[in-house]
Amino acid sequence: MYGLTDERWLKNYNQIRTSEKKVVLTFDDGPSRQLPNILDILNQKNVPALFFWHSNFLFKERPWKRVLEEGHRIGSHAANHKSLAALTKDQQYKQIKYSIDKINEITETKVRYFRPPFGQYTEDTMSILHELDLVPVMWEITSFDWENKNTPENIITNVVEHVQDGSIILLHELKQTVTALPQIIDGIREKGFEFTLL
Ligand SMILES: [Zn+2]
Repeated sequence: MYGLTDERWLKNYNQIRTSEKKVVLTFDDGPSRQLPNILDILNQKNVPALFFWHSNFLFKERPWKRVLEEGHRIGSHAANHKSLAALTKDQQYKQIKYSIDKINEITETKVRYFRPPFGQYTEDTMSILHELDLVPVMWEITSFDWENKNTPENIITNVVEHVQDGSIILLHELKQTVTALPQIIDGIREKGFEFTLL
């Protein structure tokens, strides 16, 4: 169903290569308290998503099992949200390796995707990702959900008005994002797009 498992399927790491009307939803900075609400909406609307988690927030009791069982994927967003661009190669390696080892260990699934905190990375980051067989995933559409705590309608507009074929969409596990999510999904579908995964 979702056959995109290879780096070749990504264009500049911020779009999937497709000539079809397909987009990818991604949620950063979890697992958070909003996760069950996000999963409920995705489940109701039958939409798959890719979650980029801080491994420092991932404890065994978090509902990671539900995420995988409901057809979503979990990627790494490093350990503690430090900008990798400010770190030495050795420090970057530790952040990345520690984060994927922890996710792999708890979920017993091999992490394939990595999104650097703040989208900031260096050549060293890329060589480490290559070495660890991880695919960097950036984004094309910024929802600015973190800046719209009291204006979820802006989040909807920021996403729905800008999606195009192959867009990877950046959202976060925030309360206002939960409020906006049903209309984001409906708005994207009304424009004729389908949701897919990497
Ligand atoms: Zn983040």
